[in-house]
Amino acid sequence: MRLQSYLAGRWQSGTGAGRPLVNATTGVEIARADATGLDIRGALDHAREKGGAALRAMTFAQRGALLKAVADALQARRDEYGAIARENSGNTAADASVDIDGGIFTLKTYARLGQLLGDTTRILEPGQEQLARDPVFFARHVWATRPGVSVQINAFNFPSWGMWEKVAQATLAGVPSLAKPAVATALLSEAMVRDVVAARVVPDGVLSLVCGSGEGLVEALGPMDSVAFTGSSATAMVLRIQVAGMAAAPRLTVEADSVNATILGPDVKPGQAVFDLALREAVKALSVKAGQLCTNIRRILVPAEIEQEFTGALAAMVSVLRVGDPADESTRVGPLINVAQREEALRNIDRLSAETKVVAQAVLPDVAESSGFVAPTLLRCAEPASGSAVHELEVFGPCATVLAYRDLTEAIVLATKAEGSLALSLFSEDAGVQARAVAELGPWHGRLMLVDGEVGKAHTGHAIVMPQCVHGGPGRAGGGEELGGLRGLRFHMQRSAVQGGPRMLATIAEHAAEQAL
Ligand code: NAP
Repeated sequence: MRLQSYLAGRWQSGTGAGRPLVNATTGVEIARADATGLDIRGALDHAREKGGAALRAMTFAQRGALLKAVADALQARRDEYGAIARENSGNTAADASVDIDGGIFTLKTYARLGQLLGDTTRILEPGQEQLARDPVFFARHVWATRPGVSVQINAFNFPSWGMWEKVAQATLAGVPSLAKPAVATALLSEAMVRDVVAARVVPDGVLSLVCGSGEGLVEALGPMDSVAFTGSSATAMVLRIQVAGMAAAPRLTVEADSVNATILGPDVKPGQAVFDLALREAVKALSVKAGQLCTNIRRILVPAEIEQEFTGALAAMVSVLRVGDPADESTRVGPLINVAQREEALRNIDRLSAETKVVAQAVLPDVAESSGFVAPTLLRCAEPASGSAVHELEVFGPCATVLAYRDLTEAIVLATKAEGSLALSLFSEDAGVQARAVAELGPWHGRLMLVDGEVGKAHTGHAIVMPQCVHGGPGRAGGGEELGGLRGLRFHMQRSAVQGGPRMLATIAEHAAEQAL
């Protein structure tokens, strides 16, 4: 099977040999993807001219209805997508749900936001500034859709959610999307786009797909275009340098890797609900999607006085995690997506061995040599204050490290040693501890999840990105920001200060939704 790209309103094949996609459990090749020789510049023109014009002619409410129709088309084929995710990504049913249902939920969330903005096409910030002594000259800030194309480059671990969360924001803003999933798991992205195209719910040029290399994509962009990138810091660096050298200066936002932490507050004691809640979350970090989540907990910061009990309890839970065929309902942990990812994860666990010791490992069943399986591995770092790799290296698999701390000040210092992360969770009953974490760790994180007994199990999870909340983090995490409900539209729109008289400004307000972004 050869994956195709959907460009300029038609399915097209590359002319090269392509790169293989494999069955994660067996390592057997299942498809190839290649975009060699495809007319990317022509596809971008088509998206800008046809898709952009079609979207800008629609109101926010109409774009919301379009997103709802996309979500419905995908919902109808949900079970088939689960089978693809199992084969190509090694997902268990629960893993696949994070990616597939997460994508559909995000589309539906943005569909609802479209209804909220109603039959308007631009956004007006609340309030106005008087600029002259007499009340005849004012300024209002207006957000208008950029007439460009949104190029969306995604990582291999979210072939559904990664694509649809970006498409949802761009579409609602009125900008056409050209999605480029990672080749290794593009089977699901291609199947989903095929179904959406076949359902005829999206106007020509609004949605394009490249199944193959992303080379040549960024250099073809103009001043109204943008790149939303999710992936490794190494690729992010290449793209940053490329964009920095372009006179057209397309916008670039980066979601990169991150060595996220969870903290058990200094007040937590065994037997408390928050102790068990933290344990539960830590086990998820070593099992859900085989640890291949950018927001996953990589470091578990525990007060020194309860470290033994916590680590002992967690080790017991990790060692019985059932690893195996994702098709088997009793399996908790499937394989990584391929051998290359397995080797990379094992190499990074090995690199951590200078600073950590293995505390527990799940049993790896007999698996194919060419499969992606990695045994869930719990590590302990005895000297977290002097460690460096443990704070900087992301093992993109089922692995996390316990680090003991003396007091909250040290816990805060250790958390910031990752130099900027996507998400931090704190398990504590102490409002003072929570307030300090928000003040001192907020600047280092895109999202903070505070769990106490009142929240209990009702929380959505450390690793789960909710479309209502911003996603992205400073520093190592890339410095980008996506989602956050309507905040996600900012990247695709231009804010202009519009200066003029009261009559003119009143006319502009008639066609705009008044809304703070
Ligand atoms: P990657 O190797 O950096 O690849 C990411 C994407 O960039 C792929 O689609 C890749 O295409 C493409 N790409 C590579 N070089 C390019 C170039 N020169 N021009 C244009 N596109 C290019 O990352 P990955 O291995 O897929 O993903 C794993 C990483 O992503 C992890 O570190 C994880 O933490 C991070 N991640 C972050 C988030 C977040 O939201 N912050 C979410 C998920 C994952 P090919 O497949 O064709 O090489």
